[in-house]
Amino acid sequence: MDIVIVGAGPAGVTVAETLRELGYDAEITMLSKEPFPPYSPPLMADYLETSGKSKLIFWKGSDFAEKHDIRLKTGVEVVGISPSSKRIHLSDGGEIGYDKLVIASGSKMWIPLECRCGEAKGRVQYYNFKSLSAVSHLLKEVQKGANKAVVVGAGFIGMEIAITLRRIGLEVLVVEMQDRILPRMVSRETSRYLENIVRDLGIELLLNSRGVMLKGEEVAEELLLGDGRSIKGDLFIAATGVRPNVEFLKDSGIEVGRGISVNEYLETNIPDIYACGDVANVRDIVTGNAYPHAIYPEAIHQGKTVALNIMGYRKPYDGGLNMNSLYHFHLPLISEGAMVGEVEPDETLFYEDGSVMRKIDIKDEKILRFELVGDKKGIGFLHTLLVKRENVDRIKDRILLGKYNHAHLILETLSH
Ligand SMILES: Cc1cc2nc3c(=O)[nH]c(=O)nc-3n(C[C@H](O)[C@H](O)[C@H](O)COP(=O)(O)OP(=O)(O)OC[C@H]3O[C@@H](n4cnc5c(N)ncnc54)[C@H](O)[C@@H]3O)c2cc1C
Repeated sequence: MDIVIVGAGPAGVTVAETLRELGYDAEITMLSKEPFPPYSPPLMADYLETSGKSKLIFWKGSDFAEKHDIRLKTGVEVVGISPSSKRIHLSDGGEIGYDKLVIASGSKMWIPLECRCGEAKGRVQYYNFKSLSAVSHLLKEVQKGANKAVVVGAGFIGMEIAITLRRIGLEVLVVEMQDRILPRMVSRETSRYLENIVRDLGIELLLNSRGVMLKGEEVAEELLLGDGRSIKGDLFIAATGVRPNVEFLKDSGIEVGRGISVNEYLETNIPDIYACGDVANVRDIVTGNAYPHAIYPEAIHQGKTVALNIMGYRKPYDGGLNMNSLYHFHLPLISEGAMVGEVEPDETLFYEDGSVMRKIDIKDEKILRFELVGDKKGIGFLHTLLVKRENVDRIKDRILLGKYNHAHLILETLSH
């Protein structure tokens, strides 16, 4: 049986590695658009900060393919799939047959900015931070001595790149159309708290401002805002959101919604084709809504599930969990559960004391989401209550303070 994996990101790598761990010893081919060995996107900030010296980025080792006897083809793009003949078509004109196919093509930056930048003459007009190729272009420009960076978008990736560029000495301005940073990820209170930290780092924030167009003679030199203002800079970075890489599936018959539609075994609607990671549309265990859960732990978990199912274990995937840990702010900060604004809570429990903030949203007597800032006390217990969809009505005030855990619950149950 020949297994072909499209994409060498965390999801694709996990499928291949798990297949080998499970004893699969036939051919595995991995195809990657990127001209590098498999790398970990969460480590790209570190790569930039160390001027490309940190080799941690290749987190499975530069010899991952040789070590696991995987035929890794880099720098080649899959441009089409013909399920009827079980063949995939490559950008270099080649074709490869498969018995089982895994689509782990991840996501790309979605950029709603018009660019009127004349003739680029081989230069990059503006930047993003979604792939190691993109980061390498950005690094070159930084090394040429750029002074002022303008980051469009204050989501997770935007804030990570802003903090990193500031750390390596650039002047940084972040433009965000909403009235706060990280609007989908953290509550308003936490945004305000983090905005102070960001400003103390010397990063300028321009909130309530929509970037609409980049202009320049060859490369972007200014960003025009919706209200007519113009912002000048040396380099512009789009961090405006991500979308699944699904264009090459056009005409394949593979069903795509917000991402590739999959069943509980992460199988697509076409036999012998699986999808996992940022590209897959999976049901959330808390809200029941299906959307691509574009985070690293999900890519790993789904990759393992796909490998088990290819090997015939019929292992259902238990659903996606949205969780974020913002380590670039150098303080304990974690949120788990529904995205901000996704579902209206019945009740919000809130505790604040100095630099500690704890917040739990409750819906139908269960945790809908929680957010801990400055203190992770009781996080394991909160996580368990969230994923097991436990009724917390009786204990909610105590779990808010982090002073109540599994042991207390057991003792209480025994004494009743
Ligand atoms: C800067 C940054 C920081 C992040 N930090 C965190 C973090 O701290 N914590 C966290 O949980 N998550 C983080 N994430 C998200 C996490 O990296 C992703 O969820 C994870 O990488 C998804 O893995 P994946 O394999 O599904 O997709 P990807 O990592 O996107 O990999 C997919 C690969 O497939 C390739 N590909 C796409 N289309 C084709 C094609 N047609 N032919 C061949 N190859 C193709 C792509 O080039 C890409 O290399 C971060 C992401 C970024 C960009």
